[in-house]
Amino acid sequence: MRARPIVGCVAAATALLVAGGSASATGNAVGAPGAGDPYYPMDGNGGYDVSHYDVGIDYTPSTKMLIGDTTVTATTTQKLDQFDLDFYGFQIDSITVNGESATWKRSDQHELVITPASRVAKKTTMKVRVKYHGEPKPTSGLDDYSGWNYSSTGGAFAANEPHSAASWYPVNDTTRDKATFTLNATVPKAYSVISNGEQTGKKTVGDKTTYTWTEKDPIIGYLTTVAIDKFTYLKQTTKDGIPLVSAFAPGAEDKEQIEKQLPAIIELLEHYFGPYPQSSGGGIYVADQIGFSLETQDRPTYAAWADLPTVVHENGHQWWGDSMSVDTWRDVCMNECFASYGEWLWEQDKEDVNLDDKYSAQMAYYGDNERFWSNPLWDMGAGNEFSNSYTRGPLFLQALRAYIGDKPFFQVLRTYSQLHRGGNTSMQDFEKYVQRHATRNVHGFFQAWVYGTTRPADKYIWFGPFHKPAAKARTTAPKPLVQSQHTR
Ligand SMILES: [Zn+2]
Repeated sequence: MRARPIVGCVAAATALLVAGGSASATGNAVGAPGAGDPYYPMDGNGGYDVSHYDVGIDYTPSTKMLIGDTTVTATTTQKLDQFDLDFYGFQIDSITVNGESATWKRSDQHELVITPASRVAKKTTMKVRVKYHGEPKPTSGLDDYSGWNYSSTGGAFAANEPHSAASWYPVNDTTRDKATFTLNATVPKAYSVISNGEQTGKKTVGDKTTYTWTEKDPIIGYLTTVAIDKFTYLKQTTKDGIPLVSAFAPGAEDKEQIEKQLPAIIELLEHYFGPYPQSSGGGIYVADQIGFSLETQDRPTYAAWADLPTVVHENGHQWWGDSMSVDTWRDVCMNECFASYGEWLWEQDKEDVNLDDKYSAQMAYYGDNERFWSNPLWDMGAGNEFSNSYTRGPLFLQALRAYIGDKPFFQVLRTYSQLHRGGNTSMQDFEKYVQRHATRNVHGFFQAWVYGTTRPADKYIWFGPFHKPAAKARTTAPKPLVQSQHTR
């Protein structure tokens, strides 16, 4: 997504501080303030594992006032005299832990440090209720912890990566803690609300309506969303009867033509990636030219520029990123490389594109570009996650397909995310899985394609079905590729 400055040694020092962390010098049992991600060490927290979020918001578009009442249900993994949630902005009105009033303080950019009235024992259920109010801070640019966007149509929607949720409800903002999610959103009667999962309630009292959305598949913070607008809706189903609900903000109604292809898109992706891993689907089309579209779970959020490849890409993420999530942000290729390769598979099957020709043409273009190769597909650095994986990623996978053969390649693609459904993955784990299916050693190939910061040797990029252009032709022939100005 958008660039963040590399935090370097500050991050490394913080990582040391947050690793471990169970008892302080005073003997207090303190949950770690971060989950230890190498890029975003303060994201997430230690000491508990969330099982469910019950998020309540009452939002008035005309005043931008949000009144929140969120209960986080978690199981403690240690005894706790103090623990953190990730929460950004807002005035806190009250916090209770298991019904008893707690005290709190804010620290760092997004740490809500909570001290319960009494110690919470290890391996017990803890219900943390936070009441708050204020104007959500909008998504604004670099180094942004907000995911709240005010739409030009008067509504609002939550979307950003890797940070979004903490700008509208208190959350354990790590990819490693998945939980179910319920949203009760109250808005003026003229508006409606769409979120993840399925709508399970709608109740109007006076001039306000409360919409209830329930996500029963495990979900992580940045994949949760809420969108509030005067939407029109499209309801479809997959061939297996999974409900697909899509919403179009005023001005985005023409996107319905693209979204009508969603059942066909899911069918194609199921063919290559295995059964659709979510219980519902759809899309949220905003009318704003934001810099990204995002794979919010079940129901991606689309910018006004979104096209058919974007819809294929974001739905590919339902397997690669959503159902199965990165272990740390170093592994972002496990999301983006595969979602981007989903676009290639669509082109292959629906537009008769020969992917070996496509690969050859792109490699002719990028082959000697040192900058292109300097950016690896693993551990590319904080702020650099959303760049090369869209181009080098699908090239890597097309090369892997040729290197190990179609049969094992598609066997891996069809089964891998199912094995990690509701969990996490790393690139190293993926390589091991590929090796189990391949009849030749893939270590050198992975070293070159994934970890290497220079152009791989010809044996890894020009072989089998690929046709290296003649040196002379290379300078003139290839069609220049226009890299998308948008991230998805
Ligand atoms: Zn993506």
